[in-house]
Amino acid sequence: MRILGIETTCDETAAAVVRLTPEGSGEILADEVMSQIAAHAAFGGVVPEIAARAHVEVIDMLIARALARAGIAARDLDGVAAAAGPGLIGGVLVGLMAGKGIALATGKPLIAVNHLEAHALTARLTANIAFPYLILLASGGHTQILAVKGVGDYDRLGATMDDAIGEAFDKTAKMLGLPYPGGPAVEAAAQAGDPERFALPRPMIGRPNADFSLSGLKTAVRFAAEQAAPLTTRDVADLCASFQAAVVDVVEDRMRVGLKRFRERLATAPQAVVVAGGVGANLAIRGALARLCAEAGLPMVAPPQKLCTDNGAMIAWAGIERLRLGRADPLDFAARPRWPLDPKSEPARNNKA
Ligand code: ATP
Ligand code: MG
Ligand code: FE
Repeated sequence: MRILGIETTCDETAAAVVRLTPEGSGEILADEVMSQIAAHAAFGGVVPEIAARAHVEVIDMLIARALARAGIAARDLDGVAAAAGPGLIGGVLVGLMAGKGIALATGKPLIAVNHLEAHALTARLTANIAFPYLILLASGGHTQILAVKGVGDYDRLGATMDDAIGEAFDKTAKMLGLPYPGGPAVEAAAQAGDPERFALPRPMIGRPNADFSLSGLKTAVRFAAEQAAPLTTRDVADLCASFQAAVVDVVEDRMRVGLKRFRERLATAPQAVVVAGGVGANLAIRGALARLCAEAGLPMVAPPQKLCTDNGAMIAWAGIERLRLGRADPLDFAARPRWPLDPKSEPARNNKA
């Protein structure tokens, strides 16, 4: 089975072809990603109209390139998967319509993929992980702790009540004059910094629920930066290190509670602890999860960094996971700017989508 995957929900335009191997995992035949970071950098964040237009300009070329690299003609695909949400509606429409067009022209099934589900299933593309598993899904727009019980079957155990972790990294970077996206810049600056120089809060630590709240930490960084101004390179490094140390402590505590709730809710231990989403690229956060896993005697799985941030391979893989269960979608499937994975526990706030 070979599936084309298309991703346009945020600021990456991506197209990939993934093949289902006889062993049941995925082989990436082509993985084309074009980031719009440069187009948005001047604004310190993603501008929806600029994003949608930029997707339109490159989507056809990227799909053609992915098919060429994979050495496959569109008519030889087994299906076309496109992210149908959640995300910025203008961008989602571009990728979903491109996918529908190819599905219509070739007569192949369309799989309308939930972008969050794609992040949540990515670990199974590269590693052989059985359900159920515990996942920290942390990106620029989302921060959730989920029990992944099967394809399309998720329990949300915790979520952020305000900012996503990636958003907190991005805003911290902006306050400190570091480039967008902030995550990699803050992580790099933190390496040379003193994580104990600034005493920053660890919001939510010790709470019995597995939720996050990060806006207070962001405000504390702002106060600390104002007091230390004008900032030297050393100050910026120390602020980044102190901020990242606070996030790491929060993640470790929240995931410990998430693990406890997983065991209570499912009456079994997870097969693995997984991290996904752009923030999953952060080595300090991976380290915190590794400690937790060592303590609990569980395997930790983190997809390669390139598959943590938005990409087409994860959409193609989610398409494979759904199509092999017979779950294709009608061609009139509507784009969903909001599309919770676990509707029964969706609060009426937080997500950017
Ligand atoms: P979403 O998936 O929620 O719709 P998104 O497109 O912003 O949104 P991703 O591309 O998965 O999500 O992740 C981007 C986010 O990850 C950004 O906020 C970025 O700062 C953060 N990020 C990337 N690398 C790192 C890192 N090394 N450390 C911390 N955060 C990081
Ligand atoms: Mg992105
Ligand atoms: Fe994403």
